[in-house]
Amino acid sequence: MEHHTPLIATIAVSLVAAFALGLLANRLKFPPIVGYLIAGVIVGPYTPGILANAEIAAELAEMGVILLMFGVGLHFSYKDLFAVRNISIPGAIVQIAVATLLGVGLATMLGWPLSAGIVFGLSLSVASTVVLLRALEERQLLDTRSGHVAVGWLIVEDIATVFALVLLPVIAGMLPGVTPAQATTTATGGGDFIVSLLFTLGKLALFVAIIFIAGRRFVPWCLARVAGSGSKELFTLSILAIGIGIAYFAAVFFDVSFALGAFFAGMIMKESELSHQAAESTLPLREAFAVLFFVSVGMLFNPAILIQKPVEVLATLFIIVVGKSAAAFWIVRAFNYPVDTALLIAASLAQIGEFSFILITLGLSLGMIPLEARDLVLAGALLSITLNPAVFWLAARARERRLALETERTERAETIDAPYMANESDHVIIVGYGRVGKRVATALAEMGASMVVVETELTRVEELRSANRTAILGNAARAQVLRAAGIERAKHLLVAVPNGLEAGEIVARAKEINPDIRITARAHIDEEYNHILESGADRVIMGEREIAKQMLDDVVAAAAA
Ligand code: AMP
Repeated sequence: MEHHTPLIATIAVSLVAAFALGLLANRLKFPPIVGYLIAGVIVGPYTPGILANAEIAAELAEMGVILLMFGVGLHFSYKDLFAVRNISIPGAIVQIAVATLLGVGLATMLGWPLSAGIVFGLSLSVASTVVLLRALEERQLLDTRSGHVAVGWLIVEDIATVFALVLLPVIAGMLPGVTPAQATTTATGGGDFIVSLLFTLGKLALFVAIIFIAGRRFVPWCLARVAGSGSKELFTLSILAIGIGIAYFAAVFFDVSFALGAFFAGMIMKESELSHQAAESTLPLREAFAVLFFVSVGMLFNPAILIQKPVEVLATLFIIVVGKSAAAFWIVRAFNYPVDTALLIAASLAQIGEFSFILITLGLSLGMIPLEARDLVLAGALLSITLNPAVFWLAARARERRLALETERTERAETIDAPYMANESDHVIIVGYGRVGKRVATALAEMGASMVVVETELTRVEELRSANRTAILGNAARAQVLRAAGIERAKHLLVAVPNGLEAGEIVARAKEINPDIRITARAHIDEEYNHILESGADRVIMGEREIAKQMLDDVVAAAAA
């Protein structure tokens, strides 16, 4: 197609196609992502008809990654990140090693050299940020402990990719028989490998140091000043300028990936009290670019490979969806984390995306891999992203079955092996010690009421215990945890968790054990409200309705005064 405005044309064609197919997918009860991917295939170079510019689309996709990682940073304080280091770092490293070995195995069977196998395996081992974050956000899991572990894991994978990108040209230069244009100029021997490694580490450390020492002071100060100016436009602009600016300069000066740079930019902004507003003002932009990301993945895909090499495609898909997840599940369990967390991590990582394309494209330009490898990685990405919602669905079913089994088992044995047991009676149980639960608990404590808190976050449980309050660590949807909180003897249960589906589960389980208990629960939307009531709650309090009521009261009171 001839046109003089390729950027506008690409954005227009991509958005229109994504919208049409997203809508269609939604009608057919598929996740919209599937529609976006197919829209990409249609407007891509491998199918006849409308054509968008794949290069421009790839750059737009990169923008999507930047904005997305920036958004994650805004949710993530470095304390959260630090808290999960014990599992995320070894977990990601072992999982990358397993996936790479599986990739090498498949490559060897296909008759590729070892170096090709390593690049291929590495690109199968790193999950897509965009896919993972959207999956967690949709299920409101981003702010849970498991969500933190998943994001921490992703950050480690991202850092590993940065290293792989720097070291691949060096490795290519050391290999006999490979004569890549880029590699010859960068390296000739093993000494260079160490030097490159140290250099990369040094630059990363310098970047992190600058961000934490200077950025952490300057950015919140700057935001407060701009917010003080009263201009909403300038505020949004300052957020974008700081976020995208840091990401870009991190990449240019420190060879840190855009994604990692953006993540750190968001993380220091999180220190500002205005971080909520910052997240909100960038949301529409983030969503639009995330759609462009999926379209650009579709554009790279050559559907012919599905017919030409079906067995190889299936083997690749198997490594991504089954091999990688099994490894992740096993590692998380080996660290004694609950099955819930292990299932969530396994499901989140059962896909590949942008990092894989970057790695495989570099491998191709260095002459390390055959073209076929790139097509397999793309097919694997497209199929695994499409299948990801189904994988999450399976994980949720597995979790439900386990919960049911557990309830049955505890009911039969009538013993509770949770480490902490409440001995209160006629007490109030508060589930969730967050924005809502904490306020209620503090007020009840002042009134001298007897109460027990159930919380999934260890730090919050510890905080309560050090203040001499009874707190049970665990997910309140489990009968065992509710029993440990003394649900049989309690008079009132307050379900103060933000997720309505989970709240319904907790309410139903509690009523099963103690049908006489009074239950008050929290909801945010009408669907949740009804669901929780149907699950057996006596009263559901919906935030938005209460706010409306109070506002009305204020108007009436002011008029009367
Ligand atoms: P907030 O949204 O700020 O009110 O915080 C909700 C709190 O509830 C957080 O501290 C969560 O860790 C906690 N929470 C969420 N789900 C559960 C659950 N199923 N059982 C116990 N605590 C939970």
